[in-house]
Amino acid sequence: MDYAALVARLRSHAKVARITRYGTIAEKGRSWPLLRLDTPGSPRLLITAGFHGDEQAGPLTLAQHFGTIARYARARKVGLTVFPCLNPSGFELSTRYNASGEKPNNDFLRYELEDGSEEGVLYGKDPAFRRWRLFKQGPQETRAIRRALERVRTPVAALDLHQDNYMRRAATYAYVFGDAQLYLPLALRSKKHLPLAARVQVDPRLVTDSNGFIWFHDGSVTDWFWRRGVRYAAALETTTLGAPKKCDAVNLIWIRGFIDLVALARL
Ligand SMILES: [Zn+2]
Repeated sequence: MDYAALVARLRSHAKVARITRYGTIAEKGRSWPLLRLDTPGSPRLLITAGFHGDEQAGPLTLAQHFGTIARYARARKVGLTVFPCLNPSGFELSTRYNASGEKPNNDFLRYELEDGSEEGVLYGKDPAFRRWRLFKQGPQETRAIRRALERVRTPVAALDLHQDNYMRRAATYAYVFGDAQLYLPLALRSKKHLPLAARVQVDPRLVTDSNGFIWFHDGSVTDWFWRRGVRYAAALETTTLGAPKKCDAVNLIWIRGFIDLVALARL
């Protein structure tokens, strides 16, 4: 599916969501609209997807199932704010970065440590630091979403849909913040569709736990929302070698699960 077809599919959900353009990307002589979908309701869940253009499962799940997702949220009086495809030219070309090769790299935070030095990422579950600040640079896609998110009232939960293009097998795992018990039912349900990447090295310094969870203050959009005070935050990974239908099923499990968590937050 090219980006124009994705946009058409997203716009077909205009009956259930307010669809607006939060920015426009100029790449390779073309202009690419950046879309945002909002449904009424409170408390709210914010979903981002398509940061990396070769990780198409998230945008496709949102485009294909937004009607069902919106109905599910509405029945639970949960409002949705959805940024379904953050990197349009990358999506079109199925490349991680944008068409100019700039890196919309999910880089939003700088942590100041006790010794005054700054880091973009912090390892460990609850690392020490003095303060954090918003990192204001980056390619146009990153700047556009940051501007939009700065104006958004902090939701109860934030879910970012990614895919892992490095692991050479079908699997799923998640970067989580806070108490992983909350997300365990979602991982167990996902396991029916894709094996959990348990105790797997996903980075030289990162290994998943037995349920496929990782704690990593990576300065990503999810980490930013965690620092802003959301109650639930996760970045879901399915591997690009997972069958699209299976990745879609896992995305839907986490989206519905997050809607349920947000609904419970009302109690
Ligand atoms: Zn990614």
